[in-house]
Amino acid sequence: MTDYAELHSHLYGCLTLDDLRYLAGRNKPRWEIFLKSYESAYGRSADIQDLMAPESDSRLRSYYHFKGPPDFPKFQSAFDLIIALSSTEPGELFEVASRVCAREPAVHAEYRQLFSPMISVSEFEEKTGALAEAMEAACKNHPGKTFRLVMSLPRNPVTGPVLFESVRTLKRAGKNIVGIDFCAQEEGYPPSLLSDLLSAIKSAEERYSILYHVGESFRDKSVESAVRWVVEAALAGAHRLGHAAALGMDPDVFRGSTREELASERLDQIDFEIKNYDSIREFILARPAPGSAAAMVPNKDQLSQEARDIRASGKKVVSVFYSPERTEFLRAFQDWAMSQVAATGAVVECCPASNQAIIGITRNHPLLRFLKSNVRCVIGADDPGIFDTDLEKEFETVRKWGVSESEIAQLKKNSLEFTSEKLTSVD
Ligand SMILES: [Zn+2]
Repeated sequence: MTDYAELHSHLYGCLTLDDLRYLAGRNKPRWEIFLKSYESAYGRSADIQDLMAPESDSRLRSYYHFKGPPDFPKFQSAFDLIIALSSTEPGELFEVASRVCAREPAVHAEYRQLFSPMISVSEFEEKTGALAEAMEAACKNHPGKTFRLVMSLPRNPVTGPVLFESVRTLKRAGKNIVGIDFCAQEEGYPPSLLSDLLSAIKSAEERYSILYHVGESFRDKSVESAVRWVVEAALAGAHRLGHAAALGMDPDVFRGSTREELASERLDQIDFEIKNYDSIREFILARPAPGSAAAMVPNKDQLSQEARDIRASGKKVVSVFYSPERTEFLRAFQDWAMSQVAATGAVVECCPASNQAIIGITRNHPLLRFLKSNVRCVIGADDPGIFDTDLEKEFETVRKWGVSESEIAQLKKNSLEFTSEKLTSVD
């Protein structure tokens, strides 16, 4: 029996090649979805002739497994293979969930599921109900293990609340749903957009953990703004933060580069730094070797002047250049932000294989900084089917990074303590 829990995985991201064959046999594959996606990602056609036959194993593997380097269309084409093969009708959902639970090595696992934002309320309830029943059946069929369902909702502030009401209806009717997750595209959806929904989830009579993917993909903004989003999500009440890579990525990765962001995003960042000015400055000065750290903090007058200049210019987009000074400020700002996240008690879910494939983090993983800070963290496999991994391999990866046996033992212990039910029982 293993001594850890799987707290960050997406149900349909857990499929094996055999599961894909099962889906292909059950449904009429919508090959056009995969073919179009593959062609646009790779610039050549996929060969689907006898693709699901056992002898085509290596070809199927080459279309399905994705390990990087980061290339979102290529990752999407692997995911579109799943979409092409699946129907997500209730019978399929029950069978898929049962299969995934049956081979789960962890003693406790929470699986997330996102449906299309176009789904009707009745369909959502029917499908979610099937998943909850599958988890319940799996608990009975595998004594000593627990399997829990977390529903991912769209970040859209209109449909998110409607589907949350459906989750509540199901939970009141006895379906065990332990948390609400927000995943998929981050860009364009600041945590503030969902503050009402997050408050409603927190204050619901039934208990739900709030799981929030943030700081994983931030192509549209400065690193500081991405770090701020992580802090904002934690302050808004997220119990666990998915990836939060921006919070601990090595600033040297950005040194010498220029990023662009909306002027409104930069203004939000300036407001944030002014509001927290004393706290940031005190934190930096209290570090063991502040050196010229104090000088790195832009002063309030400079920040206010920059805000006035941006407003006067009428610019929609501003550039942020990572000079040596700015890079060092970023490092200090991240450390301060980690202390803020740690103070909320939010848990960061680190997913090594996923971060390598999607973000391209191959060394100096944020986990190494989190372990030196007070940030609580766990390890998850995210989409183990696509990344061809499992939690054992993930622990092996962090071991290679120099994470010690005692730290690994602590990460495992954390996973058993930071389950949705335990985190929400102390709210
Ligand atoms: Zn995820």
